[in-house]
Amino acid sequence: MSACGCSMEPIGTFQRRDGEYVLVHHCLGCELERFNRIAADDDFDLVLSLPVLPPRTSREVKAQQVEALLVEQQEQWDLVGEAS
Ligand SMILES: [Zn+2]
Repeated sequence: MSACGCSMEPIGTFQRRDGEYVLVHHCLGCELERFNRIAADDDFDLVLSLPVLPPRTSREVKAQQVEALLVEQQEQWDLVGEAS
């Protein structure tokens, strides 16, 4: 489960620069992505059946989310400006 209480769906895997494989979970509620290092007890058949995604870091994803939020807030301010 994610922070917002929605279920997380595995959407793919990617390989970090250090060679570590990461499983990407996508939140069905809020578009958040979470990265989990693939552990020995993970279902490897599932992991292998998932698409390989371009490498990404949590920092890049966070930057994208902040940017999206700023655009959203800017749009809301624009609407306020038009209404008055
Ligand atoms: Zn969520």
